Amino acid sequence: MKCPHCGHEEDKVVDSRSVQDGRAVRRRRECLKCSDRFTTYEYIENVVMTVVKSDHRREPFDRQKVFSGIKLACNKRPVSAKKVEAMVDEIEARLHELSKNVVTSQYVGELIMEKLKEVDEVAYVRFASVYRQFQDKEEFFKEIKKMLE
Ligand SMILES: [Zn+2]
Repeated sequence: MKCPHCGHEEDKVVDSRSVQDGRAVRRRRECLKCSDRFTTYEYIENVVMTVVKSDHRREPFDRQKVFSGIKLACNKRPVSAKKVEAMVDEIEARLHELSKNVVTSQYVGELIMEKLKEVDEVAYVRFASVYRQFQDKEEFFKEIKKMLE
């Protein structure tokens, strides 16, 4: 597995565990060159999820991106990294349940917002404000107003 940090191709597995009710194996890997740690997931039938962005560019689903987005939204909120990890697990499981190989980035964003809404209202509004910045400003103000009421 190519290290996302330095591109080196050799790593060692430092942790391996079954997730999503045994439907996936999560592996923590450590790059043998720069010691950067990253996570890989192994699925039965190994479906690669492609995300179509609003500008029509396609990229493989990136769990790390979802994690970073949620983590940022939860900055200084009482949401543990473990909780964030669990949210990403649930989002990923939902995507795999669709049995589709292609999803839109908008759909992924909606799933993230749905999860955040359940967990932390402030984090939800933060994420939604950034996410919807170029889509629907009214929505953002409505959310902020609701929060202040
Ligand atoms: Zn590396």
